[in-house]
Amino acid sequence: MLLFEQRPLGAIVLDIEGTTTDIAFVKNTLFPYAEERLEAYMAKVAPTAEGQAILAQVRQEVGHPDLSQTGCIAQLLAWAQADQKVTPLKAVQGMIWEEGYRTQAYYSHIYVDAAAHIQTWHRQGVPLYIYSSGSIAAQKLLFAHTSVGDLTPCLRGYFDTTTGAKVEAASYETIAADLGLDPGELLFLSDSPGELAAARQAGWQVCAVQRPGTPNFSPDLRVVGDFGKLPLEVV
Ligand SMILES: [Mg+2]
Repeated sequence: MLLFEQRPLGAIVLDIEGTTTDIAFVKNTLFPYAEERLEAYMAKVAPTAEGQAILAQVRQEVGHPDLSQTGCIAQLLAWAQADQKVTPLKAVQGMIWEEGYRTQAYYSHIYVDAAAHIQTWHRQGVPLYIYSSGSIAAQKLLFAHTSVGDLTPCLRGYFDTTTGAKVEAASYETIAADLGLDPGELLFLSDSPGELAAARQAGWQVCAVQRPGTPNFSPDLRVVGDFGKLPLEVV
């Protein structure tokens, strides 16, 4: 059994961006990769059922049932350039990223200590979950194609914003109920003060992760620079 500050843990829940993974990977690799290929990719898949479904979602989102294919693609591009999290855009980005991972255009970044501890905790039998604002499909792709290999066998499950916003305590209550665990048995690791406050409000144990470039945290939070510094003890 794993103890965090002398209290038994039922599971560990991890944020991705800024916690397991450099924010720059998503910002400087994934998003530009999808944006550069969006028009050509949509033109290619437009005749397929998948492509038609995306176009229909765009028309519904903007409230223009007659919007042309070109108009829909221009709209998707405009959302991408404005970094908007719109459902049809997220779907296309996921499809393009899948192609990028498959063709090994990139591997996802993972901090060395994060990868090592995910593997160790898995071997120790600690259930591990992800809670990220990226879609569950994108989370699975990211962990399946890291620079140190496929980490998905170490992960028990994934949560995204369909569970609720990451800064709302209710989301953490939902996750605890979903996992059938007492909130006090859950440890959440994140680089976001708002997320950590919400998890703590829901009764979770929390620890802030300070990676290079992360702003400083308030002094009332426990902060570690890497997963190896967590006050964990195996008993
Ligand atoms: Mg984060």
